[in-house]
Amino acid sequence: MKIQLLGTGGADGIPGLYSDSRVSQHARAFGGKDIRSRSAALVDDCLKLDLGPDTWSQMATYGLDARDWTALLFTHSDADHFAPDELMYTLYPFNDFEFVGFIVYANLRICRRILEKFPEWPVEMRTTKSFESFQHGGYVITPVRAHHLDDEDAHNYLISDGRSTLLYGTDTGIWDEPTWDYLSGVKLDCLVLECSEGLASTAYDGHLDAAEFEMVLNRLRKMGTVFDTTQVWTTHHSQLGEATHAELEAHFNPMGVNIGFDGVEIQF
Ligand SMILES: [Zn+2]
Repeated sequence: MKIQLLGTGGADGIPGLYSDSRVSQHARAFGGKDIRSRSAALVDDCLKLDLGPDTWSQMATYGLDARDWTALLFTHSDADHFAPDELMYTLYPFNDFEFVGFIVYANLRICRRILEKFPEWPVEMRTTKSFESFQHGGYVITPVRAHHLDDEDAHNYLISDGRSTLLYGTDTGIWDEPTWDYLSGVKLDCLVLECSEGLASTAYDGHLDAAEFEMVLNRLRKMGTVFDTTQVWTTHHSQLGEATHAELEAHFNPMGVNIGFDGVEIQF
């Protein structure tokens, strides 16, 4: 399998749209891997993870074609992950299609919001629930519950093609026990995990800082879910995380953790 991280930034991206933080200033001055658009990823060019406000520029920048998507999987309804207006370009008059070319998988809240916005649209939508696996083409996909929103079934996604298994978690927090229990039976070839708060730390428990990331990773290693050959990558970095890309590498690389950046392709 392959996952390409299209966006690895926090909700307001890096540089933050209206921010003058040190990390934002650094990104404006030096560009490169310190520029982070809003979170999204693409598995094997066909499974699209989230549809945020930077979708158009991500697809154009990396030479990708949205007509290759067979599934659009939403993690949750925060605006940096769910920009429903971007769906309107899937159909006539923007092209000749009479049906949306991919299946939308999303929790109940997102399905309802799409239906409110586009009633009677020719789109196949399937409601997802944490810990209920489903088959899409050659993939078995299982949403697992994130500790991110109290009033919504926010997902991290386990995706397996029968040979390799990926866990993609952008808004994770410290998982509650049912998620740990579920993951104890899984062996990961690739883990993409948020480290939104970076080297800063806040009281908010819906995102991970560096110390919490290390704690989560150590527990996954102890459980055997992450083992010696598992590739571990970070994503969803906030400009408030008090760490540039190079500073994150200096902190994490010694632990065998790679720092994600926009456009990186990971094979496993
Ligand atoms: Zn987010």
